[in-house]
Amino acid sequence: MIDFQHILNTIVEEISSEPDKGIVATYIPELAKVDCTKFGISLLDNNAKLYSSGEANEMFSIQSISKVLSLSMAFRILGNDLWNRVGVEPSGDPFNHLSLLEMENGIPRNPLINAGAIVIADILVTQLKNPKQEFLEYIRKIANDNSINYDESVAKSEKETGFRNYAAAYLIKSFGNLKNDVEEVLDFYFHQCSLRMSCEQLVTIFYIFSNRGECLQNHRYLDLNQVKRINAIMLTSGFYDEAGEFAFEVGLPGKSGVGGGIVALLPNKFCVATWSPGLNKKGNSKLGMLALEKLTTTTALSIF
Ligand code: GLU
Repeated sequence: MIDFQHILNTIVEEISSEPDKGIVATYIPELAKVDCTKFGISLLDNNAKLYSSGEANEMFSIQSISKVLSLSMAFRILGNDLWNRVGVEPSGDPFNHLSLLEMENGIPRNPLINAGAIVIADILVTQLKNPKQEFLEYIRKIANDNSINYDESVAKSEKETGFRNYAAAYLIKSFGNLKNDVEEVLDFYFHQCSLRMSCEQLVTIFYIFSNRGECLQNHRYLDLNQVKRINAIMLTSGFYDEAGEFAFEVGLPGKSGVGGGIVALLPNKFCVATWSPGLNKKGNSKLGMLALEKLTTTTALSIF
């Protein structure tokens, strides 16, 4: 039997002596204030046993990790019609690139790059009466935790500086793939990115992707085919233009965010989240990636 607690403690110890912790994202001014020495890790196995080490209870801005959750909500509502609006191929480009969008007529490559997540946000704005409230309730219900909330100061900070997201949204709209008002769609998008969670809360929510669509309370959110598809997109597109490197080093589907969080999972086995705010050049948490590489190498547990 694998001693996950011992492995996580060892990882935290090893990580703490790493000299290069990466660089905190500064393009969203509120994120620049975060202390880059923080590190937390949580693992929830499929017997519902939770293991944590380091600052696993401290909340941080989940940023792009939220894109998987908005995708799951839109997929539940629209089913496979969703794929008329957004593709499923890795982009091989940074998360905020615009050139592909222009060449491919406003159909974003996948739902995990910004342009794709903005189209998903547009779908939710169309489908929901109170999009921000209903999305929050969806997340709280999966987590069985009403304390989860948006961080208004982060949402505001991004609204004031998210010029590339405005550019992407208007470009998509010019091709007819954005139905609602750009301001309204981006207000939703910036709020979903501002969600604050700890590693422990993240694994509780992403448990549905490692547990064949069911949350810890055995409520089904996604069917098996939906889980398969979302996990496939996480594997191929979850790490900006470093998805290949993440598959190579870690070997798990997952998603990162510029707040320094990473969540990854091994279907039917476990879900794991790390938080270390310093990023590498590609925008992924530097020490989070290293920690996950240590985890899958030590345990020999990966999808490969
Ligand atoms: N809200 C961020 C943006 O749109 C998300 C970036 C990320 O975490 O990848 O720029």
